[in-house]
Amino acid sequence: MKRILYRSPFVPPEWIAAHGFRPSRILPRNLAGSGGPVPTLQGVCPFMRGVIREMCSHTDAAGIVLTTVCDQVRHAADLLRRRVETPVFLMTVPATWQDPAPQALYLSELKRLGRFLVEHGGTTPSDVRLAEFMLEYEKRRSEWRGILSKCGSKACSEHMAAFLASRDLPDASPSQERQAGIRIALLGGPLHLDAFDLFDMIEKYGGTVVLDATETGERTLPGPFHRTDDFHAPPLEDLARTYFETIPDAFRRPNNRLYEWMRNAISERGIQGIVLVRHLWCDTWHAELARCSDELAVPVLDFELGEGHTDLGRAVRIQAFLEVLR
Ligand code: SF4
Repeated sequence: MKRILYRSPFVPPEWIAAHGFRPSRILPRNLAGSGGPVPTLQGVCPFMRGVIREMCSHTDAAGIVLTTVCDQVRHAADLLRRRVETPVFLMTVPATWQDPAPQALYLSELKRLGRFLVEHGGTTPSDVRLAEFMLEYEKRRSEWRGILSKCGSKACSEHMAAFLASRDLPDASPSQERQAGIRIALLGGPLHLDAFDLFDMIEKYGGTVVLDATETGERTLPGPFHRTDDFHAPPLEDLARTYFETIPDAFRRPNNRLYEWMRNAISERGIQGIVLVRHLWCDTWHAELARCSDELAVPVLDFELGEGHTDLGRAVRIQAFLEVLR
């Protein structure tokens, strides 16, 4: 089955799968990526640079879907169009959300994505077929929430990453138990796969990550569909409403829902400190740093992921932060 590569949590994999493709969320292993015909990349953050390199290396993909969540992703779409023959679809995800118009635009963008998929070999799904995929992904998300409560945030985020990359279930279920320690939340942009060692680093110095609110963690799991058992209205409308309304993110305008969501999580999980994870040149998350410190009632560590930071330097910062929280 041909793959469609995507990156953003605002691209519903159910919609791609229902058109007969294998949706594959691309997370680079490291910020250098795994090769591909892209020697230099200017004007994109290190994470997108890794994504572009990774996408370029999948020459068998039927298409690439990116979203307009920041200027660097728009630029990445231009770079990819100039470098690969794989068709690239840039989907508009409105930042505003309070009026009906932005949600209608998001729905029309999903329909436009559907036409793109059909143009490149997919088949238009019936409502029943789409509903089946929606139920399947909903089931996976509830499994991840189960893993989260039993095994902790790292296991949940790793399981999500493995399934969303291939739509195959990982061979083994995670078995580790939640660790005790100073209760930390990760918040911010996406983690590349090697950055998952941050969970271990926090544990090593006496903390435990009880919330992964990075873009690759539980924050971006959409909420439940409105009618999982009884689809009377077109399921695409339910899909659009759920993805558009229930994923809190820094790029939304206003982005109060991100702060409401974080305040609830802080109180429910007894979070004692936040590590704000951001990539070099990521204005979207850098701009939230001061507000996080002002509005979230726990200390915040600004933690930049990047090539210029050694493992030792990162470890020292985490260790010092946890010492302060003791
Ligand atoms: S990490 Fe920041 S700059 Fe990079 S793609 Fe995401 S939002 Fe844009």
